Amino acid sequence: MRLSRYFLPVLKETPREAQIVSHRYMLQAGMIKQASAGIYSWLPLGFKVLKKIENIVHEEQARAGHMAMLMPTIQSADLWRESGRYDAYGDEMLRIKDRGGRDMLYTPTAEELITDVFRSHVTSYKDLPLTMYQIQWKFRDEVRPRFGVMRGREFYMKDGYNFDLSKEDALHAYNRHLVTYLRTFERMGLQAIPMRADSGPIGGDYTHEFLVLADTGESEVFYDSEISDLTFGDRDINFDDYAACQAVLEEFTSRYARTDETHDEAAFAEVPEARRRTARGIEVGQIFYFGTTYSDKLDATVQGPDGKPVKIHMGSHGIGVSRLLGAIIEANHDDNGIIWPEGVTPFHVGILNMRSGDAAADAACNDLYAKFKALGLDPLYDDRDERAGAKFGTMDMIGLPWRVTVGPRGLKNGVVELTSRRTGESEELPPEEAVARVAAIYANL
Ligand code: ATP
Ligand code: MG
Repeated sequence: MRLSRYFLPVLKETPREAQIVSHRYMLQAGMIKQASAGIYSWLPLGFKVLKKIENIVHEEQARAGHMAMLMPTIQSADLWRESGRYDAYGDEMLRIKDRGGRDMLYTPTAEELITDVFRSHVTSYKDLPLTMYQIQWKFRDEVRPRFGVMRGREFYMKDGYNFDLSKEDALHAYNRHLVTYLRTFERMGLQAIPMRADSGPIGGDYTHEFLVLADTGESEVFYDSEISDLTFGDRDINFDDYAACQAVLEEFTSRYARTDETHDEAAFAEVPEARRRTARGIEVGQIFYFGTTYSDKLDATVQGPDGKPVKIHMGSHGIGVSRLLGAIIEANHDDNGIIWPEGVTPFHVGILNMRSGDAAADAACNDLYAKFKALGLDPLYDDRDERAGAKFGTMDMIGLPWRVTVGPRGLKNGVVELTSRRTGESEELPPEEAVARVAAIYANL
């Protein structure tokens, strides 16, 4: 993409409404525009990152054999009356009437609808286990929408649901989700720590929240610092192997890590003092096993191996896809702007022409641009007729991890400059080498 043709409404001034850095940078970098409180338009740059994040979620769910599907945002109130949540949900639920006076709502989550799909079509244990998920817009009329996409009213969420014959199978699904989430967040350049959470009104003993540590996080968290050393990395897990998934869960959840809701001073005191940490965190995901709560309420039953009816064991599993943009920026930025991890960057590399209009510089930039594209990479070429200073400012703000700077002086010596946004380190090298270097970085992702 050539920046002269791209829609990138970068703001010069600091937006006053933004209290935290991710909100400020998303507005300044022209990624989002508020439409009304807690509701945003996603401009091209923001939308690109949103889709990258969504894509990673899809790839990791597919790896575990979970099936993508899509349910409507506007749902009839009937099912929600059947489960008892139409009244229980309270003011966070946006209620709508259609022209016939029927009660509808904008979905805040989808346990009811997916259970209805399930009970309408699945009658035998032979069709289990089953896990389906969607990535769909949700609406919760939050009391205090704030921090941009972090706590919106309309937000994009992955919600997955498992249907199993027994508690043991459902706990395997729980473990499987934990494994997929660890890998999902790491691919986005985040360490998200699973912490024991409070199951709240859904009930059930098993729930973990995934928290990204950040000073601006809304939750207070308590953990054993040894957890910071854990990485999931490139492990090849067989998702059908109960013991393998269980072992990962144990590895990542055996040390103390809790949110303020479940924090226990006495248990925390058993962690050696030098390893005790108190910090703030952003919840980017949560997994639940809640047994037969919904299958009881909505009568989801299948015929078991012995011919007798069996109530389905379920769990639900969420990822805050739109919130993740904020969380990634909170964890990856400096005073000049965003620093995207390679896994989610909107463009792989920026090309900065120091002297647009100079024949040699223009030709070298066009050539770099073509070479990157030929290798399947997605470059952003700043070909605008602007001062170099303004171009550097824009590149730093939008945070592409790699930048190639091209100027007449370097070209005389046959070199361009390759710069890492994260370290600020630059290296002069021939254009073909700069291309090969960038290509090699992304080849490993
Ligand atoms: P919170 O405690 O932050 O209100 P929650 O526990 O109610 O969130 P879940 O029902 O677990 O949220 O939803 C799954 C994920 O969706 C959360 O882990 C979070 O990342 C994201 N999420 C929830 N509410 C919002 C919101 N208002 N704006 C953006 N993302 C949200
Ligand atoms: Mg939650």
